Amino acid sequence: MTSFDLTQWQIAVDALPLGVIIFADNGKEEWRNSVASKMGGVRHTEVLINEAIDHVGRLVVAGEATTSQLDLAGPPPRVFNIRGLPLLSGGAVVTVEDVTEQLRTEKVRTDFVANLSHELKTPVGAIAILAELLEGETDRETVKKLALRIESETHRMTQMVDDLFELSGIEMQSVMQTQVNLCEVVFEVERIISTVASHSGIAIKTHFDDKPMLVLGDKTQLLSAVSNLAENAVKYSNAGGIVEMTLSHEGKDVVLSVSDQGIGIPPDSLPRIFERFYRVDKARSRGTGGSGLGLSIARHVISNHHGTLSVTSSEGEGSVFLVKLPQLKMNTP
Ligand code: ADP
Repeated sequence: MTSFDLTQWQIAVDALPLGVIIFADNGKEEWRNSVASKMGGVRHTEVLINEAIDHVGRLVVAGEATTSQLDLAGPPPRVFNIRGLPLLSGGAVVTVEDVTEQLRTEKVRTDFVANLSHELKTPVGAIAILAELLEGETDRETVKKLALRIESETHRMTQMVDDLFELSGIEMQSVMQTQVNLCEVVFEVERIISTVASHSGIAIKTHFDDKPMLVLGDKTQLLSAVSNLAENAVKYSNAGGIVEMTLSHEGKDVVLSVSDQGIGIPPDSLPRIFERFYRVDKARSRGTGGSGLGLSIARHVISNHHGTLSVTSSEGEGSVFLVKLPQLKMNTP
């Protein structure tokens, strides 16, 4: 241990993924490792973190072991855990850990479990009642009806679990940074929804120029977002309606509009439709197998890609969902 001098000690502490700050017994900061030196990123954040470190350091030197949590509103919001421990010399060691990502992941997990257990209660309860009714039933027609309802509740549960998995996955994952041509995304979505649309008597039209509409991001996530919007447009339209997907440029953005001539959304529901599990008409959504998560997924994906998703709608006339994403600049040779 005698050869373990201060320089080696500093190199070792510097390698930690944790901010470490040493205070002398007079309460003055003596040394900090490089993680602690780079903490904060922007000036304002740096000042607040340093104030909190100083406060904890002084308390510990005065004899109080302390732990505190620093919540910074951002943007982006960040959370730091600051712990102070006394040193034998009379000074203090303060550690600072950025726990933003850890808390976010924990929240996604707890939300997932809470949402799942809450939302599965209804279909599970319905299946239990339907099964009870089925038990004493002898009429073949009624047995068939009850069995079909059990089947549809089971599909609803499966859809709910799948959508929740997808939403949690999107919340957990970082976005892949690949070049995505939105024209290809729209083509693929058109293919995906065409069978259901023609079955329901709804026409799909797409409009875009020949130029590629490039954005930076994750094609699978973008496909999921756009197909949720297009599937909704079909689901909430009546036979004879037209669903249109139009790609255009607006300043530095690529704009995709998904419009329908369907039932529309009442004005008081408009601010709520992006909430998890919110459905305007629960009966209709149940009929169409909706989980109330499609728009949450779409909005999350678009915000992951630094874009915006907005809606305008008129009851009985239809809705327009507008996606704006930053266009990827191509380097001209
Ligand atoms: P769902 O699975 O129920 O379709 P979403 O999150 O995709 O869930 O949508 C939430 C609610 O918003 C739907 O239940 C529906 O009431 C309404 N909605 C979404 N898109 C449309 C649309 N194009 N036209 C009318 N209502 C829509």
